[in-house]
Amino acid sequence: MTTILRTWELTKEYQGKEVVSGVNMNIKQGEIYGFLGPNGAGKTTVMKMITNLVKPTEGYIEFFGVSMTDHSYEMLKRMGCIIEYPVFYDKLTARENLQLHGEYMGYYNTKAMDEALELVKLEGVDKKPVKQFSLGMKQRLAIARAVMTKPELLILDEPINGLDPMGIKELREVFRMLSREYGMTLLISSHILGEIEQVADTIGMIRDGILLEEMAMDRIRSRNTQYIELITGASSKAVYVLEHKLGLTNYKVLDPRTIRIYDAVQQLELNKALVEAGVELDSLSKKNHSLEDHFVEQMGW
Ligand code: ATP
Repeated sequence: MTTILRTWELTKEYQGKEVVSGVNMNIKQGEIYGFLGPNGAGKTTVMKMITNLVKPTEGYIEFFGVSMTDHSYEMLKRMGCIIEYPVFYDKLTARENLQLHGEYMGYYNTKAMDEALELVKLEGVDKKPVKQFSLGMKQRLAIARAVMTKPELLILDEPINGLDPMGIKELREVFRMLSREYGMTLLISSHILGEIEQVADTIGMIRDGILLEEMAMDRIRSRNTQYIELITGASSKAVYVLEHKLGLTNYKVLDPRTIRIYDAVQQLELNKALVEAGVELDSLSKKNHSLEDHFVEQMGW
């Protein structure tokens, strides 16, 4: 797959403090890239640099292999974005808002406007003034506005913030449709792992301005391993049994009471060996290393 957007050592300082540090991001054509990180991690700042709303202190951005400058207007037209809260003319209808946006962008295409409204399922309410819209409807209208001009890359900053479960579900379907049916590339930021996990093809994890990891979801999922977790007050004795009685080497002592065993071993056999050696167990159970565990480890929580 072609990489359509690449950032090179992207860095931003505010008042002498780095809020984004040497970020190297790679977004492939047609994928949904989930940009995941806690509040204040630097997601919005990275997105603002990509869309030329903020100037990087260091580093640069390549879009379709071309290095972006302040004058890359033609390149910026190939991006659509919703960064921070979308603003509309409240007394105007959805359609009128789109018309105004089209005029401002020099894009006159009523068919594209109809398609965009249909895509976000607002075609039936396009005559209502926007002030009567729910947050979810406004969010969908913002997406219609951003996709109306058929951008190749759509950048959405925390699009699910404040939405109810139904609104989130509807938006998720819109994302999938844009990606699968329209071949659009999406960069979506969120601080909610469960949401990103459901739509993203690739995840970029950011904390304190540093991109910790960038990985395909398939790879993250395939790394989800099973392990046996045992909790005991006699962990040194337990480790002795694991190594010398059972010949196990792939285990991790998490804290003085918790041991995780990744080697293939039967639960029964393990239990028997420990009990025979007089190791008192509080619990012994089979577990899965989930994406959530991986996220928590990466974020250092
Ligand atoms: P959130 O989801 O809370 O918006 P974020 O990951 O998008 O978080 P940013 O908004 O990029 O994070 O902010 C990163 C850091 O940069 C924060 O500490 C923020 O206070 C700081 N910051 C952002 N904009 C400015 C600015 N204009 N001047 C000074 N500091 C700023």
